[in-house]
Amino acid sequence: MSIYNHMQNPSANKATCGKCKKPFTWSIHGDHYPGNKMTEYIECPYCGEQNGSMRTSGSIYSSKVGN
Ligand SMILES: [Zn+2]
Repeated sequence: MSIYNHMQNPSANKATCGKCKKPFTWSIHGDHYPGNKMTEYIECPYCGEQNGSMRTSGSIYSSKVGN
């Protein structure tokens, strides 16, 4: 078991929306079942544009930066 499984705040990845050009962060939650990966999309929290995807067994959540 890894100590990282118990982290409360997974590290956020910074990104900028390719459509509305606003900055946001995204991170993966609930990655508990390795081997059961599905494609999750990184969606802009402002306009909903898909800014890429990745295969993960968790879910991708995006958050607005600032106010
Ligand atoms: Zn956007």
